[in-house]
Formats: sequence, C-alpha cells, structure tokens
Amino acid sequence: MSEAPSLHSRRTLTLKFDLPISKTREFWDFLREGKFVTTKCKKCGLVSFPPQSDCPKCMCGEFEWIDLGKEATLLTSTYVSVMPPSFTGTDPYIIAIGEFSAGVRVLAWLEGVQREEAKPGMKLRVEARLSKEGNPFYVFVRA
Ligand SMILES: [Zn+2]
Repeated sequence: MSEAPSLHSRRTLTLKFDLPISKTREFWDFLREGKFVTTKCKKCGLVSFPPQSDCPKCMCGEFEWIDLGKEATLLTSTYVSVMPPSFTGTDPYIIAIGEFSAGVRVLAWLEGVQREEAKPGMKLRVEARLSKEGNPFYVFVRA
C-alpha cells in the first residue's frame, strides 16, 4: 500500500480556543472558591470526572454536584522533560493521576515534588490556582 501524496509544512501554529462550559460552569465557580467538586448522575449514581452534564452510562441529563474533598492517592505519574510546544517556557514537570475516595481519577500537574519522590500510594492534596489569564485550574501537591 502506498502512502497518499501530501504536502508537509513545519510552520508553528498558535492555537486559540474557547471551551464550552455552560453546563458545567459551576465546577469552575466552585474551584475559584477552593472547592473540588464533580457531577453525580441523579438516575444511576455514576460519579464522573471531569464533570459530565449528561451521564456517559445512562445518558440522563440530571445530575447533582458532590464535593470530592481535597485528598487523593497517587496512582501513577510521569516526568515530562520534553515539553509540547505550548509548554516550552516551563521547567520540566510531573503529570499525575490521583484517585479520590469517591473512586474518580483525576489527571493534574504535581507540584513541589521531585520526580524520584513521586511514588504510587503517596498522599496528595488538590489545590486551586489561577492562570495568568485569570482562569482557575487545579494541581496536586504533597498532602
Ligand atoms: Zn447515569
């Protein structure tokens, strides 16, 4: 099978985007207040993360907000030393997956920890931050 002919370009593109958050906007409002919440389906009880306005299991559109608390347990992590172009201005960083007692798993940067210290089972705490554009986001730190 031969490869389709194509033109290659090595230009750097600037990516600007708006994420629609109308149905789950409250997540970001709670985060600004320092609360870490997610959605729970009112019909089948599925707890989802990221927040889902429509249940991925039963498609029900009714949900309630539940507080996940701040504590999580590190499941796995990876040290990123070769950054994607949009992060080339940052130092190497650690991406972690933390599991909350509600069973949801959350992917976030792990701050203030050396890569050799990041071990499965480590206790984490989620913290809210504000980007320089003023958008809230969350990171893990050592509990
Ligand atoms: Zn459901």
